[in-house]
Amino acid sequence: MARVMLIGAGGVAGVAAAKMAQNPDVFGELLIASRTKARCDAIKADIERRGFGKGGRKTAITTAALDAMDVDATAAMIRGFKPDLVMNIALPYQDLAIMDACLAAGVSYLDTANYEPPDDAHFEYSWQWAYRERFEKAGLTAILGCGFDPGVTQVFSAYAQKHYFDEIHTLDILDCNGGDHGYPFATNFNPEINIREVSAKGSYWVADPAADAPEVPVENRKAFDKGWWVETAPMAIKRVYSFDQVGEKDMYLLHHEELESLGCNLKGIRRIRFFMTFGQSYLTHLKCLEDVGMTRIDPVKFNGVDIVPIQFLKALLPDPATLGPRTKGKTNIGCIFEGVKDGKPVSYYVYNVCDHQECYAEVGSQAISYTTGVPAMIGAKMFLEGRWTAKGVHTCEEFDPDPFMAELNVQGLPWKETFDPVKVP
Ligand code: NDP
Repeated sequence: MARVMLIGAGGVAGVAAAKMAQNPDVFGELLIASRTKARCDAIKADIERRGFGKGGRKTAITTAALDAMDVDATAAMIRGFKPDLVMNIALPYQDLAIMDACLAAGVSYLDTANYEPPDDAHFEYSWQWAYRERFEKAGLTAILGCGFDPGVTQVFSAYAQKHYFDEIHTLDILDCNGGDHGYPFATNFNPEINIREVSAKGSYWVADPAADAPEVPVENRKAFDKGWWVETAPMAIKRVYSFDQVGEKDMYLLHHEELESLGCNLKGIRRIRFFMTFGQSYLTHLKCLEDVGMTRIDPVKFNGVDIVPIQFLKALLPDPATLGPRTKGKTNIGCIFEGVKDGKPVSYYVYNVCDHQECYAEVGSQAISYTTGVPAMIGAKMFLEGRWTAKGVHTCEEFDPDPFMAELNVQGLPWKETFDPVKVP
């Protein structure tokens, strides 16, 4: 049985911890360390109240206060606890500090979101890919972005590539939240990270803009490692899609991190897009907040004190971890692929539908934290069982998807597939 150190004690970390406790045969000991120890203790108490997985075993849970930006303190805590794996489910700002601490202490690493510098609302893998050689040389594994999107969307892609395609030509990732929490405006995961993501420019990935996006002006194309970004104004591309068990929703094209790695790893890929659904109330509030400057990430002097407006806004908004009891409805997240197999065209759609209230009944959380925390636990299980152990720094499509896909079906995120999907125009 393994020892895991989990950093962070928010909505997603709470689900990951609860799911680890449902699998005590794998997760023998768990240290939950985060900035506010009381939140770690609350997760522990909640798990102990709900009970552990079948078989009479219990995951031994301890808690600690930790500022994960302090590399020395984090490395010291890792050395003291001697985990087999460190799971970073704090915030993207902590990724590099925790990777440094893992290297210093000689322990493997997993996270759910790629690094983002606090003073620049921009995320990309390059900062973490720069650690490849160091992890490889140290004989350690880093699994990046092991939530749902990124995470399961890349496992879906690897599964499609392995079983159904010789070449995948286009991929559309559709992230639909049909849930309603009853607030005029609230975010389903960390408000600061969420608002930075959705108010950024949109973009999609193409292999060759002259062939794959000829209508796009040259100034909106940006060359990147392998392929090109086509940039759009925020929320400029809207589509309507009818989602299984949710119904028709407006969805908007966003930049998203897995596009970057999938552009490198899918054979024959020509275009990748990411769409997320938003309701009108969310968009109207966001626009107003942007217009008055409340989403700014730079410090502003107020009564002689520096405040960052988006951080102040976070303090006013509901904590995503408290949305569970209020949220009703379902999420539907999946991938539509088009390509060829044995010279014939193939279309394939694989997706998961998750019910907010069922998640709440099981682990006390809404479905966004659930659909992120469950894959994080499965990724850790893959590593600890010796199935996902390639040394170096890797994204989820680089591993064997089959055991992960099997786990999704038994750990609460069953998937469905069809070879006749409605395509996105
Ligand atoms: P929360 O804001 O609810 O939780 C973040 C936690 O990290 C809090 O407990 C916070 O402490 C802790 N934390 C922040 N800074 C530090 C620090 N310096 N040292 C130690 N702990 C710290 O976020 P979520 O649970 O909603 O999201 C967690 C992660 O999951 C984020 O990175 C998010 O981007 C990612 N995510 C990924 C998704 C995917 O599909 N891949 C989807 C949704 C989220 P405190 O309690 O004191 O505030």
